[in-house]
Amino acid sequence: MKFVNEFRQRDLAQTLSAAIARAADTDRQYNLMEFCGGHTHAIFRYGVQDLMPENVRFVHGPGCPVCVLPIARIDNAIHLALEHDTILCIYGDLLRVPASKRQSLMKIKASGADVRMVYSTQDALRIARETPDRQVVFFAIGFETTTPATAVAIKQAAAERLDNFSVFCNHVLTPAAIQNILESPEVREIGSVSIDGFFGPSHVSSIIGSRPYEFFAEEFQRPVVIAGFEPLDVMQSALMLIRQLNEGRHEVENEYTRVVTRDGNVKAQALVAETFELRRSFEWRGLGLVPYSALQIKAEFAQHDAESRFNIPEVHATDVKGCECPSILRGAKRPTDCKLFGTVCTPDNPMGSCMVSSEGACAAYWSYGRFRENEANTKEAAA
Ligand code: SF4
Repeated sequence: MKFVNEFRQRDLAQTLSAAIARAADTDRQYNLMEFCGGHTHAIFRYGVQDLMPENVRFVHGPGCPVCVLPIARIDNAIHLALEHDTILCIYGDLLRVPASKRQSLMKIKASGADVRMVYSTQDALRIARETPDRQVVFFAIGFETTTPATAVAIKQAAAERLDNFSVFCNHVLTPAAIQNILESPEVREIGSVSIDGFFGPSHVSSIIGSRPYEFFAEEFQRPVVIAGFEPLDVMQSALMLIRQLNEGRHEVENEYTRVVTRDGNVKAQALVAETFELRRSFEWRGLGLVPYSALQIKAEFAQHDAESRFNIPEVHATDVKGCECPSILRGAKRPTDCKLFGTVCTPDNPMGSCMVSSEGACAAYWSYGRFRENEANTKEAAA
């Protein structure tokens, strides 16, 4: 397959692995955060960590849209479905995310709530057209990649005067989250989280371009390399980060040139700017309240904004006791540091969002079983 097979070649991976081993200075550590859950899965699926020298470590970041959604917002969606009797349209990843009081969207669906899984905003619009006597709410989540499709749906609904269609908006912004991590006490003061450089996300950057990362590369003196999702993309980007760190540079470089440009998709950006504006603050699981890190629907489209149309009470919810998702999303812990991992919490019985989502770090550790190899090696060494 074009643009896939050539980025998975074993001999090239071995050549890159050798180049990384030569470039990595044995007197120092390289802690490289992959912001995006897609990169986390590529690293585990293809065993990229095993092709790195010991002093090059991947730190998993908060770039999984389902994982970073706080429980309170799932509670809000449940309220919309149950108390306002709406048809709640959601992406499948959200179904099993645990909410408060042992609830989930899947459980309320099983007990009769009208929760429907959709594959796109267009599915939700179609449902609204077909059921004019019911209110249809689309539960919009995601980073800059998915926001343009929500903008299109809102504009379409306005143009068609589809008054029974609204959006519960949870779109979040990547650069604000990266900045928040770099400003956190764990990174700046305590030093318990060490991040030397970032892999910039692939799909997000195809929309926003590489320009928005330039500010914090300079301000926080951390290099950023925008990386594709294939294993050779990740390895090449690791080499580029290592070289920057060796040379004391902190620039934004683009490995994913087959898709990402400096300015990004200008048409999509204009569409988003027409429909959304910045929220003053938004709660992220793991990061807490982050100023100007999310979007809300502009007042002129209030008719299609579920938060304007329905009375949604403010909810304060806490994570399941023992679940380490918040620390994992900040890069402070790994899934195997969680006592519930693989015992109480598995993909069949998830306790936290990082095990539910296909992009979550806990799901990656579990699905590709690499932690089992580590366990086996530790036991062997101890014997
Ligand atoms: S293993 Fe489960 S409980 Fe533990 S951090 Fe991951 S999702 Fe949360």
